[in-house]
Amino acid sequence: MKNIGLFNFIAGIVFLSYACSGTPTKVPATPPNDSSISVNKNDVINEGFLNKEAQSKLTPDSVLHILEQGNLDYTSDNLVIRNTSERIRKASLGQYPAAVILSCLDSRVPVEDVFHCGIGDLFVARVAGNISNEDILGSLEYGCRVSGAKLIVVLGHEYCGAVKSAIDNVKLGNITVLLDKIRPAVMQLDRFPGEKNSKNPAFVEAVCRRNILNTIKTIRTRSPILMEMESKGVLKIVGAEYHMETGRVDFF
Ligand SMILES: [Zn+2]
Repeated sequence: MKNIGLFNFIAGIVFLSYACSGTPTKVPATPPNDSSISVNKNDVINEGFLNKEAQSKLTPDSVLHILEQGNLDYTSDNLVIRNTSERIRKASLGQYPAAVILSCLDSRVPVEDVFHCGIGDLFVARVAGNISNEDILGSLEYGCRVSGAKLIVVLGHEYCGAVKSAIDNVKLGNITVLLDKIRPAVMQLDRFPGEKNSKNPAFVEAVCRRNILNTIKTIRTRSPILMEMESKGVLKIVGAEYHMETGRVDFF
């Protein structure tokens, strides 16, 4: 079955007025030798676009499923061609994203692409080491409480430079203050069975995961607004790790 586009799927189920009007086209995994791909205009989909009613019918679990499926499409080259210019025009009327992704700064993790999402689908907050502070918490509260997103994903990744720097206890300008927020994850792993340095990928990954969990804990303890939403079941906060060599995201 051809991919019909992540949010076309939602639109088709919950809001038919925004159904797509074209047939999606798979982008070939290997481009032809002449390095050009000709696209028939009729094959470009007019992507369904989330609106307030469609967003209100999503649940935290349905959004999580959408992101899981989107990442599966991303890693299997099951991609669709979007009518971006059409989306730009629709997005100018308002935004009703399904999720907020709190991601590391790393240039190798293109967040919207990772979940095969487009304009208006996701809020993305980015900071090295995917840590949290008052400004990030305010952004998360805005995305969920004010704008209706159903899911917060704290997204770390393999081979994270910020995590490695925290392990190495780097001191440099304002980076020092940032790394201080990751350091607790390093300290909590003092019983890690193996070499505890930044050259050990297993230790780096363990610190990455612990840091994600610490960020989630910070969100829950320092944002009564988000904690209340989660306790009512209208919001879910999950961790996720991006694997550099495969593009796969593991949720936990
Ligand atoms: Zn990173």
